[in-house]
Amino acid sequence: MTLDTNWYTEEWSGQGTAISLKFKSKLHDEQSPYQRIEIYETETFGRLMTLDGLVMVTDRDNFVYHEMMSHPALFAHPAPQRVLVIGGGDCGTLREVLKHDGVTLAEQVELDERVTRVAEKFFPDLCASNNDPRARLRFDDGIAWVAKATPESYDVIIIDSTDPVGPAAGLFSEAFYRNCFKALGPQGILVGQSESPLFHAELIRSVQKSMRDSGFKDVATLHFPQCTYPSGWWSATMASKQGGLVNFRRPASNKMFTTRYYNSDIHQGALALPQFLRK
Ligand code: SAM
Repeated sequence: MTLDTNWYTEEWSGQGTAISLKFKSKLHDEQSPYQRIEIYETETFGRLMTLDGLVMVTDRDNFVYHEMMSHPALFAHPAPQRVLVIGGGDCGTLREVLKHDGVTLAEQVELDERVTRVAEKFFPDLCASNNDPRARLRFDDGIAWVAKATPESYDVIIIDSTDPVGPAAGLFSEAFYRNCFKALGPQGILVGQSESPLFHAELIRSVQKSMRDSGFKDVATLHFPQCTYPSGWWSATMASKQGGLVNFRRPASNKMFTTRYYNSDIHQGALALPQFLRK
C-alpha cells in the first residue's frame, strides 16, 4: 500500500494492478495485537477501513458484500435459527443476518476485538444491530471455536474472513470445513468468502474441493461485483450438508426486509457461473 498525497492505494499483490481512493483525511491509525487498522474519510466512498493496508469495507459499496455473504445462505436453509459468523468484525454481515426474523441466535466470533470497537466508532450503521438480544459478540479464534463447538449446534455458518493469509489461512482448510460440518445441523449450510473469480479461480476450485471432501453434498459458488476488492469481482462459496443449494426459499426471499442488492433473481443469477469457472 502506498500513500501519495491524499490518495490511498492498495496494490493487488501479484496482479500488476491496484486501486486508489482519494481521501480528505485519515481518521484513525492503530496497531492492534493482530493487524494495523486504519480509517480514512474518502472523497466519494464515505469512510474506508483497511486492515494491514488492504481494503476491508467502505460506506459506499459494502452493502453488496454483506448482503451476498448472508442472504443466499440463509434462504438456502429451510428454517435457519442458529447462525455463526466467523470474522465479520465490521459487523455488517451480523446486521444482515439479524434481519431474518426466524434467527434466534447470531453468534459472531471475531479474532480482533479492536476491529469491532473501531467499527462501532466509525461505521455505526454497520454496528446498528450489535445490541440485538439475539446477537452474541465473541472475540476468539474461529478455528478453535468451531473445533470445540457442540455437534449440530448451528444451522448456518458464515466465514466472513480476511484473505487466506496469517490467522485467516486456516479458515480455508479442509480440517476447518470438517469441523464446520460437525457443528452444523443435518440441513446445515456453510458459506465462506472465496476471493476473486478473475484473480483467484484456483483458490475457488480448492475451496470447493475441500468443502466436498469434508462431506458436504452440494457446493456452489456465488459471484457478485465488489468494486473496492481486488479485480472488482468477488465470490462466496456455499456448501450444503443435505444437498439442493439451488432450491432456495424463493417466495420468502421475495417478501423480505429491505435490501439494496440481494433479491431472489440476483440469488439465482449469482449461481450462474461463467464458462471459465465451470471447468
Ligand atoms: N469483507 C472483508 C474481506 O472480504 O476481506 C472481511 C471483513 S472482516 C473485517 C474480516 C475479519 O476476519 C477481520 O476482522 C479479522 O480480524 C478476522 N479474522 C481473521 N482470521 C480470523 C480467525 N482465525 N478467527 C476469527 N476472525 C478472524
